[in-house]
Amino acid sequence: MPTIISHAAVPIALGIGVGCRSRALFLCGIGMAMLPDLDVLLFRWGLVYGSGLGHRGISHSLLFAALASFTLAAALASRRVCGMWAGFAFLFIAIASHPVLDAFTDGGKGVALLWPWSEYRFFFPWRPIRVSPIGVERLMGARGWQVLLSELRYVWLPCASVALCLWLGRHARQPAQAVTGQEVPGQV
Ligand SMILES: [Zn+2]
Repeated sequence: MPTIISHAAVPIALGIGVGCRSRALFLCGIGMAMLPDLDVLLFRWGLVYGSGLGHRGISHSLLFAALASFTLAAALASRRVCGMWAGFAFLFIAIASHPVLDAFTDGGKGVALLWPWSEYRFFFPWRPIRVSPIGVERLMGARGWQVLLSELRYVWLPCASVALCLWLGRHARQPAQAVTGQEVPGQV
């Protein structure tokens, strides 16, 4: 995995880019982007790394992302925090980005993206992100710097670029909004 902090890059970029107006939804997106890696806690109960419930298994599947984002979006929508489908889309992208980023890392096992239809562990052919060791202590030192630098280059910089493009696109449309009084599409 990239470090747990770097998984927040996608919802942060998306939230800023589309102008997310709900702080609760924004923070939920950040939390949900990190959620799949809670599977490492199962090691304490003796779960095998490569099993379905092991690291990068079920919690890294698209089905998990869909169910978790639907459930949370419904809860937020019932409290009028956000619209149901805008919230679902934001949260789904946040969670699903996690296994996608993991599949760009150069170590560990691939991600079980298509579980339960397939237990195949996916990796992209190009994997420029240095895999982060599990545990903060192991992240200290030269290897830790290599991991953080690769994340800066291949996670944070691309995300910042996307956020900037979305932000510029949104603001380029705002004069029209000022004239028509219509809401800018894409805001959540
Ligand atoms: Zn992960």
